[in-house]
Formats: sequence, C-alpha cells, structure tokens
Amino acid sequence: MLYLKTDEEVEQLRKSNMLVSKALAEVAVLICPGVSTLYLDKVADEFIHDNGGLPAFKGYGGFPNTLCTSVNDEVVHGIPSGYILKEGDIISIDCGVILDGWYGDSAYTFAVGEIKKDLKRLLDFTRLSLEEGVKEAIAGNRVGDISWAVQSKAESGGYSVVRELVGHGLGRKLHEPPEVPNYGKRGTGPKMEKGLVICIEPMINLGKKETFQMKDGWTIRTADGKPSAHFEYAVAIDRERADVLTTFKFIEEVLNKM
Ligand code: MG
Ligand code: MG
Repeated sequence: MLYLKTDEEVEQLRKSNMLVSKALAEVAVLICPGVSTLYLDKVADEFIHDNGGLPAFKGYGGFPNTLCTSVNDEVVHGIPSGYILKEGDIISIDCGVILDGWYGDSAYTFAVGEIKKDLKRLLDFTRLSLEEGVKEAIAGNRVGDISWAVQSKAESGGYSVVRELVGHGLGRKLHEPPEVPNYGKRGTGPKMEKGLVICIEPMINLGKKETFQMKDGWTIRTADGKPSAHFEYAVAIDRERADVLTTFKFIEEVLNKM
C-alpha cells in the first residue's frame, strides 16, 4: 500500500527537505583536511535544532548521531568519530531531519581537498545516475524504470551498484514503501502515482558491488576496499516530471567559493 501525499503534504515535505539541503551546506563549508567527522556532526545537529527541526537519524534503530559520515570505502551508515579527514578522501554525508512531523533525507559525497581523477569521475557518475533516475520518476512509470536508469548509467561508466541497500518512500516515517532499488528492469515494480514521495539514493562502487557490515553494527564497507559514492534526493512524483524536493544549490554555492 503506497501512501500518496496531498499537495499540502508535499509542501510540508518540501520544507523538511529544504532544511536538510541547508544543513548539508552548513557542513560543506567545513569539509577540509584536518576536520573530524564528529565536528561535522555537531555543527549539523546544532543547525537542525536552531531551525526548529530534530535530527531524524539520532536514535533511529539506535543510531548514535545526527549524520552518517562514510569515508572512502565506507558506503553508508558510517558513525561520526574522531577520524580526521585528509587530503584526497571522499566523504558521503547523509542527513535526516524531522520538521513538524515530516521527514527530510538527503546525501552528498564531497571531495576533501584535491582528489584523484578516478574518484572525481566516480562522484560525477554517481550524481549522473541519480539524475537519470529522477527523469523516470513520473506518474505512470514503475519503480523498476528508476532502478534500470540508475543502474544503466552507473554501469556505463564501469562502476557497480550496491544491492543490499535501497531507496525508499518518505513521509511521516523515514522509511515507507516502496523500496527503490538502484538496479532492476524496466517495467517492473510498483506503479507510481502523483503524490508518491520517494528517496532515490544510488550507492555506487568503484570496484565490485559486494559489501559487508562492520562490527559496529552500522558501517557498510566495500568488500574489495575500493571507494564508494552516494547521492540522495527526495522527489515527489508528478505527471510531467519529478518534483525534486531536495536541492544541492546551497552546497554548490559553498563549493564554488572554496
Ligand atoms: Mg539518507
Ligand atoms: Mg534515504
């Protein structure tokens, strides 16, 4: 059973996802060699509270922090720590908020200082695979159309798609049906209708697709130790084109100034 939001509810979700978009930009300005992931977490936590929200991940299934910070071969769900970012790292930052009872959820993978060309290309392709998925997120299409588009783009670059973790519906809960895999076949899966709100979040590996979970019970890493990237948008399904509730423009304003 898919929960379709009214126009008013989509506007609530636009606000919660706007707060996430801004929180990620607050963090973006601080990302450089020498900064700890725990410091980024603290800044995001304060920003969310100062703007009337609550961090959505803290306490979710027992997760201890506001951000998921996943560096290099960490795919997702990394726990902020005393780890100090160094030149050449990549870091995926995933942030969730609750604002007036509605969830926001977005992720962006950042370069720390100068990164190698092959990492830059991985980030570009992951971002492009997300954009290809968004193009398919329209009423009348099926979830598998998104999955197929993401997978096709990622694999066309020679990358592999993580299977164990998927996108999801978003609303008054962080994870609602349907699941939105980043791999699949056209014309399969649930049919999408106007008012469905989903998170599309490709997790794309430079090497092989296999992953494992660390003993901390959270952090997912690539089995081959090669880097992985992750970008996430929340989108409302509409008739002509997806209504993207997340924006990376605040992040890009920050990055362009650096
Ligand atoms: Mg997320
Ligand atoms: Mg998500």
